[in-house]
Amino acid sequence: MAHVVLKDLVKTYGSFHAVNHVSLTVNDGEFVALVGPSGCGKTTTLNLVAGLIPVTSGEIMIGDRIVNDLDPKDRDIAMVFQNYALYPQKSVYKNLAFPLQMRKLSKEEIDRKVRDAARVLDMTHLLERKPRELSGGQQQRVALGRALVRDPAVFLMDEPLSNLDAKLRVQMRSEIKRFHQDLNATIIYVTHDQLEAVTMADRMAVMNGGFLQQYDAPAEVFANPVNMFVASFVGSPAMSLVPLEASGAGDSAVLTSAEGWTLPLSAENARKVERATSRKIVLGARHSTIRLHKSATPGAVPAKVYTVEPTGDITFVQAFLSGSIVNISVPASVHVAPDEMIFLEFDQGRIHLFDGETEMALK
Ligand code: ATP
Repeated sequence: MAHVVLKDLVKTYGSFHAVNHVSLTVNDGEFVALVGPSGCGKTTTLNLVAGLIPVTSGEIMIGDRIVNDLDPKDRDIAMVFQNYALYPQKSVYKNLAFPLQMRKLSKEEIDRKVRDAARVLDMTHLLERKPRELSGGQQQRVALGRALVRDPAVFLMDEPLSNLDAKLRVQMRSEIKRFHQDLNATIIYVTHDQLEAVTMADRMAVMNGGFLQQYDAPAEVFANPVNMFVASFVGSPAMSLVPLEASGAGDSAVLTSAEGWTLPLSAENARKVERATSRKIVLGARHSTIRLHKSATPGAVPAKVYTVEPTGDITFVQAFLSGSIVNISVPASVHVAPDEMIFLEFDQGRIHLFDGETEMALK
């Protein structure tokens, strides 16, 4: 396999920057997810790597070669798309064999590669079927197989699971992860689904508006999002973000709400707030780190229940806190009702603080 390096990559359409100065390295054998909301530039980035569209500026390296001027077929990549792109009239065997015939491999070599790929993807029994005789998951496996037989330096996958139903998607997620581990393949995988990225990738590149926002291991992105966009994009339900004001100074800095309550801060958090240039501070907290009290408790701030969603073991509660919606998860044994007043206690070691003007995490 090979590593991939994007250096200051730019793609413009007129004056619009679809990809804006993106630099990142995908290591040999690494699984990297490009993730972000619709229109953030992830497919464009993948298509630039594939050579399907020309680069405006910047450099793309696959292995030790700069590939900017190479045709897709000369880049040693294989793509897997969401629509599978299988030949409907050909059997699975012929679908897998076709790219190899185009490369003029011998019949024996083609047969060996097709059967190897079928074994890896557990579809030897499907080789004689036509695509229409396969389930969506099986068709996607054939699409993977067709990429696999080409033995590329890099696999490029664009939302390969988005046409599958929810259950099959979860199953195929594990299969692609397994595929990566077994082959030690270099994979660049585009998805808008942060959960797919978090569960499968070694590192995730979170994009927004053509810019790379953060590139790190999923656990690190989850634990230390660099800005409010990443904080609210990664994790489900989303991290709650509550705009507040800083007051006081030094270790005794606190956050105050327009509603009049005050949230005391730990010494470390007070120091972060003190270093911020803005007095507008956004408090961030994940649902599992907020404690819900039914009566007033020192250190807890008042909120009003908006919705209650039991899911079995856990109940998700949405509440209004200083005009913002906050997500909280509680054990099913805790009962609250819409419009009830509750009190929320934040875990000072696990809250996130952002500059309300720059939206960057406070350090
Ligand atoms: P999605 O998840 O919806 O596919 P994406 O993150 O993959 O989104 P891209 O397809 O990379 O987004 O598109 C990024 C931006 O570039 C979008 O605003 C899109 O409208 C724009 N764009 C893409 N291709 C072209 C084009 N050929 N001409 C003009 N604008 C384009």
